[in-house]
Amino acid sequence: MTLLTFRFAPSPNGDLHLGHAYSALLNQRLAKAMGGRLLLRIEDIDTVRCTPEFEAGIFRDLEWLGFDWEKPVRRQSRHFGEYQAVLDRLIRDELVYPAFMSRGEIRAFIADSEKRGRDWPHDPDGVPLYPAADKALPARERSRRIAEGAAFAWRLDVEAALARAAKGLSWTEFTDETLSATRPVEARPQDWGDVIVARRDIPTSYHLAVVTDDALQGISHVVRGQDLYAATGVQRLLQDILGLGAPSYHHHRLIPGPDGRKLSKSLGDSGLAALREAGVSPEGIRKLVGL
Ligand code: GLU
Repeated sequence: MTLLTFRFAPSPNGDLHLGHAYSALLNQRLAKAMGGRLLLRIEDIDTVRCTPEFEAGIFRDLEWLGFDWEKPVRRQSRHFGEYQAVLDRLIRDELVYPAFMSRGEIRAFIADSEKRGRDWPHDPDGVPLYPAADKALPARERSRRIAEGAAFAWRLDVEAALARAAKGLSWTEFTDETLSATRPVEARPQDWGDVIVARRDIPTSYHLAVVTDDALQGISHVVRGQDLYAATGVQRLLQDILGLGAPSYHHHRLIPGPDGRKLSKSLGDSGLAALREAGVSPEGIRKLVGL
């Protein structure tokens, strides 16, 4: 029998807050209840925004909470070579293309199109989809720009990827905190357009690194916030075209801040370190998040 494996995968680009505590503790509770493994993964591909200080804060907060993860920890920034190898497969299979437009150029392109009365489509997070212009560039023009040193990201050709993928792509979603019931969810990667799979300066993106690592680490259950529910469609497509197995998912409720809004990394009051300094105990944190 293969062992069930859970993971908590924070990014060290800010302080942990109550929402992270809930996610970590829920993963721990489920791993314990099911006799599974509990991993911690540091998602630090953004080497500018992620810092050693934030990472040290994560370890400190999690130890204090009593989250007991297996060592060694996987740090994504140490595995760029592995992501590059996965990206190379997508390049070889012509499922990605170089995207040259800067943020400013994208904005100008969209503004121009909207001036002419066209509503521009947005992804589920409200971000405008990437214009199709670069996908249509002839190979010669692509090579010329690259030879000239133009900066580019690699974007998934979602249409080509869907044509290659299994029909009726879906994932298994656990519908409750105790993982007792499931329902299938249709994956809709097309809602996100041609997502970035490798940024200008690094050979990966959040989506590519997460599916690579979930497969490499044998994650059976991805338990994470509801804010990543729709993005799971993109990850299912990547898993499928890369021949990776798919974990089951549970997207848990989000812990609201004191003002009822979503917690953000800059919300000092709900930060675990601030709560600890204010005298709240780990037991108190469990109560606060309803565990
Ligand atoms: N690193 C992501 C975050 O901190 C979570 C990724 C995941 O759980 O799939 O929001």
